Amino acid sequence: MAAPTSEAAVTVSAHIKKVAVVGGGTMGNGIAQVFATGGFDVHIVESRQEFLERAVSTIGKSLERVAKKLNWAPERSSEILKHVQGGLSLDAARTADLVVEAVTEDFATKKLIFEQLDAAAPAGAILASNTSSISITEIAACTKRADRVIGMHFMNPVPVMQLVEVIRGLATSDGTTARVLDLSKAIGKTPVEVRDYPGFVANRVLMPMINEAIYCLMEGVGSADAIDTVMKLGMNHPMGPLALADLIGLDTCLAILEVMHDGLGDPKYRPCPLLRTYVAAGWLGRKSKRGFYAY
Ligand code: NAD
Repeated sequence: MAAPTSEAAVTVSAHIKKVAVVGGGTMGNGIAQVFATGGFDVHIVESRQEFLERAVSTIGKSLERVAKKLNWAPERSSEILKHVQGGLSLDAARTADLVVEAVTEDFATKKLIFEQLDAAAPAGAILASNTSSISITEIAACTKRADRVIGMHFMNPVPVMQLVEVIRGLATSDGTTARVLDLSKAIGKTPVEVRDYPGFVANRVLMPMINEAIYCLMEGVGSADAIDTVMKLGMNHPMGPLALADLIGLDTCLAILEVMHDGLGDPKYRPCPLLRTYVAAGWLGRKSKRGFYAY
């Protein structure tokens, strides 16, 4: 994990001090962790107390791993964890300078949240979405501050991955974009600005490969292990596409493919039937302990 520079955090914190993260699942807890590590006060909003507790406990364990790897002073992890609070109400947005939404990849769910965030958050606050594929322009249109709505697409696992894909909606202002690019650097990430288009760049390129790997499995071309080994040893990928799909979450993969299939209208993005079957069975990958592999 790249350590953020505290001077950078101080510069950005002239504008942004408090960050609310809505959704503390696979992505939300990692996003909260990197902001807290960068010196920001973070408030996680979850839908249930047990999910909130799981998010905070995941951050604690992850910080311990980072501390070991980077040889941190013994008290550093607990100091960072003190910057993380949580609750079940979007009222936390009332004092936030930035909100990062990381709930389920479903437009109706995000729409409801952005309407409520727009009503609750201070007028100058930036509302960002970590969506993998849903239009930022459409999300922004649910608010009365489309100029201050932007995509901040973190990669999984957030504390480890360098990239933040920054997506400008049609009405996102230059000022909002500049602040978010700055902020991404302040937490030790490398931002890349892209256009608002279904799947943006990351998933437009990644998801067809994952989907094709699932077709190979369904058609019996190879076992899950064979497919992943071919891609790891043959293409030098750090992990195989099926293991990566399990890490991302199979429900999330399906939702992204649906958005690309609908948005781009090209049958090459149709989700593999086996992916639908696994999601219908509740086999969602690592988070449900069963996907293409058992965990
Ligand atoms: P997840 O299922 O692991 O977590 C989603 C969390 O949102 C859950 O903990 C759920 O309880 C919470 N939630 C749902 N509705 C809520 C509400 N109304 N209020 C508060 N919390 C609520 O999903 P995830 O993988 O973390 O994905 C979150 C977002 O990040 C999605 O938009 C997804 O496309 C995107 N994303 C995911 C990945 C990935 O690899 N999983 C990578 C980049 C971006």
